[in-house]
Amino acid sequence: MSVDTPAHPDSSEQREPAREVFRRSGIRCTRQREVIFDALRGTESHPTAEQLFGMVREHDSGMSLATVYNTLEALTERGLVRRIASPVGNGASRYDADTARHVHLTLSDGRVVDLPDELADAIMRAMPGDLSERMAKALGEDVGAIHIELVEGPARREG
Ligand SMILES: [Zn+2]
Repeated sequence: MSVDTPAHPDSSEQREPAREVFRRSGIRCTRQREVIFDALRGTESHPTAEQLFGMVREHDSGMSLATVYNTLEALTERGLVRRIASPVGNGASRYDADTARHVHLTLSDGRVVDLPDELADAIMRAMPGDLSERMAKALGEDVGAIHIELVEGPARREG
């Protein structure tokens, strides 16, 4: 395992067309899947499936929520989309087309924001160098990757 610094790609202006990404990943390409993938790639809001549905329905009134769910399923399976499970109760999962390593902060209202890279770097740097060996020893398993999810705490009180 390597605890390296998060590599957040700069949001590339020239993004590969969805149909090319699908072809490379062996995903059947349909117009609706393209619309869904492009909408997710075009936002940093980490939407739920229902929120994404609301976004794509403006472009395609024939879109169904089931299509959005099925497409997200296929994209997640192929590693093109990252599913962020809700850390609270049985909240809805959120989705992120940015699959590069980065740290999420879940706010108390359920929204998910990306931690700035410099802070994510600071977290990774603060990890002891022998952490992976210690974890492997404690668990009896090699740890392949560390995913850190931050959750907003209760509001700070004055005084
Ligand atoms: Zn993210």
